[in-house]
Amino acid sequence: MLRHAFDPEPLPIARRAFLAGAAALTVTAGALDTGLSVAAPPNRFGHGEFQIDIFSDGFITLPDVIIAPDASPVERADIVRRLGGRQGTADIPVNIPLIRAEKALILVDTGSGDKFQPTAGRLRDNLRAAGVDPSAITHVVLTHAHPDHSGGVLLPGGGLSFPNATYHVSAAEWDFWMGPDPDARYPGLRNFVPGARRDLGAVADRLVRLREGDEVVPGLRVLSTPGHTPGHISLELAGDDGLLITGDAITNVIASFEHPDWRFGFDTDQEQGAATRRRLIDRAAAEKLRMLGYHWTPPGFAIAERYGTAYRHVALA
Ligand SMILES: [Zn+2]
Repeated sequence: MLRHAFDPEPLPIARRAFLAGAAALTVTAGALDTGLSVAAPPNRFGHGEFQIDIFSDGFITLPDVIIAPDASPVERADIVRRLGGRQGTADIPVNIPLIRAEKALILVDTGSGDKFQPTAGRLRDNLRAAGVDPSAITHVVLTHAHPDHSGGVLLPGGGLSFPNATYHVSAAEWDFWMGPDPDARYPGLRNFVPGARRDLGAVADRLVRLREGDEVVPGLRVLSTPGHTPGHISLELAGDDGLLITGDAITNVIASFEHPDWRFGFDTDQEQGAATRRRLIDRAAAEKLRMLGYHWTPPGFAIAERYGTAYRHVALA
């Protein structure tokens, strides 16, 4: 029987050996969060020269037709059941990594702030509860400018949530949202345009435009992974056996892995999104690379295993 993302079954011997080997992540502090708690302590992991704390921003609720528009009604119902959802919707976690480098404190995406769904926007509270002063963040990397990723750039009353950071976004993402008529090119995204322009515009004077291969800090490299948005980026963190921080290039623990060629409802270019997804997952499976997913089972670390012509999401930690 197919193991799925939330199966509690013990790991097979071979996989346990892989996880126990030199490549295994080291849990050094923090309790594992198995649910969708909105005030969870961070999960802390060592990774090469870096330390990674995963903070919850809460969760967002998505309809099944966004998660898996190409699935049959029976398949969609099964996916919702396996995600622990009900009545055609599922609660999707939001995992935000805070990467500590020697001289930098790097946040990858900002969560929703008060700009998207009321069950999200917990990042700043969770940072403070863990003793992290938002003004101590030195770098904010935005994988893309959708509301659950950039909505936390601004405080509810205005002003920057992370006032001392430089902000890093791909040149292609900036050009898409800030250029002429993004909503004319992709009418389905009309609702996202004002928010993206608000969030990117708020940091225009402290923005670093990224390109494929750039390093945000030494060891944290930009991968171009377009499709979800035209300028979506992922990140590759050096050390141990590598780590891919996938943003929304691979959104769902079931649909994205088991049906990588299915469209995802919020992808701007759904064909390109599917091609990018398969390329990224296939590389991770081939190279046994660990990945971190923004919307995966908390805390979001996983490997991909090949399964027939598709893959399985295997959660780590
Ligand atoms: Zn997202």
